[in-house]
Amino acid sequence: MTVENPGKVWFVGAGPGDPELVTVKGRRLLGEAGAVLFAGSLVDRAVTLYAPPGCTIRDSKDMTLEEMTAWLIEQAARHRTVVRLQTGDPGLYGALIELARPLGAAGIEWAVVPGVSSAMASMAAAGESLTLPEVTQTVILTRVEGRTPMPEGEDLASLAAHRTTLCIFLSITLLHKVEAALRAAGWPEDAPMLVVHKASWPGEEKILRGTLADIKARCREAGVASQAMIVASPTLGALHWETLARSKLYDPTFTHRYRKASA
Ligand code: SAH
Repeated sequence: MTVENPGKVWFVGAGPGDPELVTVKGRRLLGEAGAVLFAGSLVDRAVTLYAPPGCTIRDSKDMTLEEMTAWLIEQAARHRTVVRLQTGDPGLYGALIELARPLGAAGIEWAVVPGVSSAMASMAAAGESLTLPEVTQTVILTRVEGRTPMPEGEDLASLAAHRTTLCIFLSITLLHKVEAALRAAGWPEDAPMLVVHKASWPGEEKILRGTLADIKARCREAGVASQAMIVASPTLGALHWETLARSKLYDPTFTHRYRKASA
């Protein structure tokens, strides 16, 4: 199906939950939207706050991919601005390409507005850093295998062997698999772990700290079984370490483009 002079579909990152974590651009587009398709209960607050009166709003949670693309195409025939609102960043576990391809095929322009991912929001909530000098300079965003198979070479045990920061999505009900993978990769039982439930959600966020040995029990005690980010990282708890390598950028003895080293 092609339509004449259609509007544009924007894939907007809604951020992790707090409506204040939608980008300024995302908020503007929501305010101009004639139609919004949003992803389930995870992002409804941003829609109700920023979409204008009269905007057609549809929850996608009971729709198939074909129904969603058909809806977006239909709305783009009627409105200048159509928003597909996705939790966190649209490029992470968001079916972005599958949704966008049929739009392109129908001659509809589309673009992506990035969002604050729950990986970043979870670390922010806990006051933790994803990277630390001389500890780890790498972050792996991943998941364990559920119904979606993991491509070869990406099983968590082999990724964990790098001892970098691991932000593990979509896996809280599979915490036993996460633990088994970390053990297989040689992480010690006292390796610090973090689970954040509903990061950034006002009044609903839960921050659970534990170790490889006890994080599952912490989650059970707190009743956390959904909407949670699991983080395993050698940076966790660094706020309380006695020794910390300095960032070169701010080191007084380090010269760079914007500052000369002091003697
Ligand atoms: N695109 C999203 C991820 C969608 S997949 C993003 O960038 O964040 C859904 C998974 O994201 C959940 O299973 C959970 O692991 C994580 N997630 C989403 N919102 C979250 C939040 N507010 N707090 C913690 N984890 C969250």
